[in-house]
Amino acid sequence: MHDSSYYSKLGFKSGLEIHQRLATSHKLFCACNPNLTEEDQIGRVERVQRAVAGETGAVDASTRFESGKRRNFIYNSFRDATCLVDIDEEPPHDLNKEALDVALQIVAIFDSKIPDEIEVMRKGVVDGSDPSGFQRTMQVGYNGYMELNRKNIPIPTIFLEEESSGIVSQDENVVVYNTDRLGIPLVEIDTDPVLSTPQEVKEVAYKIGMLLRLTGKVQRGIGTIRQDVNLSIKDGARVEIKGFQELDIVDAIIENEVERQLNLLKLRKELLNRHAQVYQPIDVTSVFGGTSSKIIKENTKNGGVVYGVRLEGFEGIIGHEINPNRRLGSEISDYAKVSGIKGIIHSDEEMEKYSISQEEIDVLKQRLDIKGRDAFMLVSGQKDASKSAIERAIIRAKIALKEVPSETRMADSKNLTTRFLRPIAGGSRMYPETDSKPMELDAGKYEKMKVSAPNIEATIKRLRKQINNDQLAEQMLKSPLLPTYNLIVEKSSVDPKFVAAFLLEKMKEMRRSGLEIDALTDDVLVYVFTGYANGDITKNAVEEIIKQIPRNVDQVERIVADKKLTKITGKGLKKLLEGFKEKDKGMLIKQVMSKYRLNVDGEELNSLLK
Ligand SMILES: [Zn+2]
Repeated sequence: MHDSSYYSKLGFKSGLEIHQRLATSHKLFCACNPNLTEEDQIGRVERVQRAVAGETGAVDASTRFESGKRRNFIYNSFRDATCLVDIDEEPPHDLNKEALDVALQIVAIFDSKIPDEIEVMRKGVVDGSDPSGFQRTMQVGYNGYMELNRKNIPIPTIFLEEESSGIVSQDENVVVYNTDRLGIPLVEIDTDPVLSTPQEVKEVAYKIGMLLRLTGKVQRGIGTIRQDVNLSIKDGARVEIKGFQELDIVDAIIENEVERQLNLLKLRKELLNRHAQVYQPIDVTSVFGGTSSKIIKENTKNGGVVYGVRLEGFEGIIGHEINPNRRLGSEISDYAKVSGIKGIIHSDEEMEKYSISQEEIDVLKQRLDIKGRDAFMLVSGQKDASKSAIERAIIRAKIALKEVPSETRMADSKNLTTRFLRPIAGGSRMYPETDSKPMELDAGKYEKMKVSAPNIEATIKRLRKQINNDQLAEQMLKSPLLPTYNLIVEKSSVDPKFVAAFLLEKMKEMRRSGLEIDALTDDVLVYVFTGYANGDITKNAVEEIIKQIPRNVDQVERIVADKKLTKITGKGLKKLLEGFKEKDKGMLIKQVMSKYRLNVDGEELNSLLK
């Protein structure tokens, strides 16, 4: 890990874009259930999409790039979670007021200003994740800020918008989406690019997540909060990174991204020293007429082709490692893959691994005019796909001579690196939503919200008092389960310390042992803890029930019945004791508890025997 002076010398600047799903009773512009169901599929819709011009009439680079793919999109729809609004067959209903209220609470937490009126905009979406081709979004806050270690971090904009569909699968021709996710209210919080180290980016991401949870109205679980990081260094490029799976590795991935850019700059310098050049593609299919290379044989059957390109001066550079397990060749390959091929082969790789013979290489070199420190790359596959793939590969190879490209990249949690996703999106993708009228905001109401906005100081004070254990209270404040804790404590008379310890420690253990803890809903948890508080079940039964990961309250009841988990107490307990002959108190307790651990409260038994 480098220190902050290392990053300041590089001119490192970074900002965050946080997307958080809100926990509301229905979706943003329709009455559908905003929780993922993925069970009752009721149909599917198919669409083909093309690029749409934005407000300025321009089609931006990312739009053009995606539309070049010409893919079909399939949208799975689900009972109670998909309606005609979601699949764009009906205009949006009225804006969800509950979602707007939560969004304004968030705006208040960041001490933002609000616009006089809310204007719904359409933001062009080209990856097909919205059947309409756009996402509805509205700015709800501007000029806010937050603090981290006494540093002011401006939050210039906060948006309330629709969540996109969840991707199920994709190949060259078809992308399949689930629409249950589509239209869930989502808040987007952007920071200015003032974060000066990867560590700081991570800390701010953690803190924003924590602040959002103070509202108690955000969804939890995998994918409910997403952090996109944008960053740049002085001589490099502005890059956006998406798809972080966990916050703990954000800094490590950013560190590697900086190294990648620095290495690309070094390679560029070397390429310029060598007067490197990228040539036009040549059809070299005939070189592989009798090849024993499985990949090439497979790719060239049924009229497939092989294209080769001379890369003058690229020897040793295309295969140079720029990140763990990534080379310049990987960057070029990422571009080519967009056309639906599996990747490129280049001359810094071992040709044996593809079973390409020395004889074939010799002929190939002759055909491509490879000399001295030249390299080559090959693309094979069906004609159209390989042609567009080799063109994309050439574009990327030429960029290597010029600069680090501005891109949207995908985080790779396993290797702690990133890979190319698409060129960076420009600003030409917004236009007004004509189906929704602008809506005035009540400034007086917002001022009141600001006064009563939840804050960290008040929350930690309350938690310390309730839980009576400072360490647990601190952990609870930072936990994604804080809203759940608040709900349980609010709705039942259960001991807050027991709830905190259970949510923080027991559930962590359960997760480690492979249980699907994230599938537990707040309804289920509140129900189980209330059952304990009311004396219907014992402490031990709470754990036993939750371990079964019940999906709903009915399932909790079924588990209690099937496993006979009802608490034995009072007269019932006295009667139970009559069945034991043991005279020694300690031994008796042991015997009862080993048989009725899930039904008898140890303390009650103890005091009864006294
Ligand atoms: Zn709907």
